[in-house]
Amino acid sequence: MEVIDFHTHYIRKEMLNPTWLNFLEEINPDFYAKADDFSNHPELFTSYLKNQGVRYAVVLPECAPATSGFVPTEDVIEYCRGQEMLIPFTSLNPNVHPDPAPKLEFQVKEGGIKGLKLHPSYQFFYPNEARLYPLYAKAQEFRIPVIFHIGSSIFKGTKLKYCDPIYLDDIAVDFPDLKIIMAHSGRGFWHSECFSLSRLHKNVYMDITGLPPQNLLGYFPDLEKNSEKVLFGSDWPTMPTGIAKNIEAIKSLPLNERTIEAILYRNAHKILFE
Ligand SMILES: [Zn+2]
Repeated sequence: MEVIDFHTHYIRKEMLNPTWLNFLEEINPDFYAKADDFSNHPELFTSYLKNQGVRYAVVLPECAPATSGFVPTEDVIEYCRGQEMLIPFTSLNPNVHPDPAPKLEFQVKEGGIKGLKLHPSYQFFYPNEARLYPLYAKAQEFRIPVIFHIGSSIFKGTKLKYCDPIYLDDIAVDFPDLKIIMAHSGRGFWHSECFSLSRLHKNVYMDITGLPPQNLLGYFPDLEKNSEKVLFGSDWPTMPTGIAKNIEAIKSLPLNERTIEAILYRNAHKILFE
């Protein structure tokens, strides 16, 4: 069974704010010791992924200087260049990029960007603000998915109110062909809201990044009913176990084989490649 990891981070230690850096050192000391090698040599990352059983990985930058850090999209584009396993996304921030839609267009056309990540609670905006609408229109036009961070975080300065999933409801209605992904599935606060939203709207998905996979059915007892809307993500390298262990934990859940395959591969493949 092939696997797509919908949520990995490209990092350079010097670009992370102290809370992320300290957390990374604590949670994944093996990676932390080799972080500079990983940042400079994408083939180290791709061979790690192969070794863990991952076929493709979405690679995320981070434009959130006030909270988590600033990892430029341009670095991610460079890192993924020529690596067919790595799928580069951009991170745009309406408080840093006042006119983000043309920037997205440029990054898609010139940089081969395959998706957009937004961080309402780190970047301080409500997802349904009018100033974001041209950006969503552009993403819909290019048929690229938008990941919103939806859930709690440890980073200092995070303002949770901005990632209440209810604000995505407007976007789902106003951009019916925009693929909307709720990263972390409402971790800590909004599990059932995220589950309901993704069942309600054909264009809304949830990724399970950062939730202990063995507890998944505790968070979402009816997961099987939503099997076409759930995506696997690891949060690599900000995770303790290695990606393969999480994949194994999902395979061990009492779910249909088809559901497991959908979570680990098919749903992501549809969003990214079809
Ligand atoms: Zn993440």
